[in-house]
Amino acid sequence: MSKLIRGRFAPSPSGRLHLGNMASSLLAWLDTRHLGGEIIFRLEDLDPERSYMDYARLMAEDLRWLGLDWDAGWPEDAGYSQGERGEYYAAAFDELSRRGLIYRCWCSRAERLAASAPHPGEEHPGSCACRGLAGKALAERERGARPPAYKCMAPDETLTIIDAHLGEFKQNLAREGGDFIVRRSDGVWAYQLAVSVDDMLMGVNRVVRAADLLSSAPRQSWLIETLGGTAPEYAHAPLLTAPDGRKLSKRDGDLNMAELRRLYTPQELTGRLAFLCGLIERPEPVEPAELVGGFDWAKVPAGPIDISGVF
Ligand SMILES: [Zn+2]
Repeated sequence: MSKLIRGRFAPSPSGRLHLGNMASSLLAWLDTRHLGGEIIFRLEDLDPERSYMDYARLMAEDLRWLGLDWDAGWPEDAGYSQGERGEYYAAAFDELSRRGLIYRCWCSRAERLAASAPHPGEEHPGSCACRGLAGKALAERERGARPPAYKCMAPDETLTIIDAHLGEFKQNLAREGGDFIVRRSDGVWAYQLAVSVDDMLMGVNRVVRAADLLSSAPRQSWLIETLGGTAPEYAHAPLLTAPDGRKLSKRDGDLNMAELRRLYTPQELTGRLAFLCGLIERPEPVEPAELVGGFDWAKVPAGPIDISGVF
């Protein structure tokens, strides 16, 4: 018997979902349903300063509005909210500490960003001098007022991901990824640790998400395997770009679901997204469920998709 596929939606409630999020969500849902699998909804609300429950509720409602459903998750089950899962992250942290993989870091650069998924151009800090601190220098830091963040050492190992859409992706974890923050100095758990622990414990074995997270896949696979789990399969979806080539984002105020729901019916929006993703010949109204049977990653472009002419 083949294994049951378990996919996921994992939005972060820092703003309203935009067109790019909807394209990735549609592809994640189609991929899972086409494989006869189930899908969960996990709320990635690690950072209390960037998480808004009004957005979280709207995200769930926007996905349902489009015609995407899920089999388990938030909001019905609060156990799928990262803000409620600190004990699991703490247990994984302890295990990494026992293996000697954790060190304290007093650098402040970009630490604030560690609780959210990396955006291009704001990569999280890699290795730093704190890893080698000893003796007097270490004692000096320990006496300082600033509490440390905690970093995990990336091993000098080259990992190969076979992405179901993009094919082979190789990365040397130490040289290309670098050490990464697992807990911020204010105690907030970091994205890389939480996502890995959750995918492992929630039985997620198929991760479909936007291509800007491809470079995180080797490190997450490694973390999961180091913690005793089995790494999921990945399929990274193309980014949607504005006519000027810029990636769409929540922060740039790009077309979000508040406007999209005023402009289109769910079937019209699905049709336009499916057309951009190569799944149908013309941007005509369609239900997500009608696309399940013919779904094939081979039809989906590998590179970024320019939305002009369609939106
Ligand atoms: Zn440091």
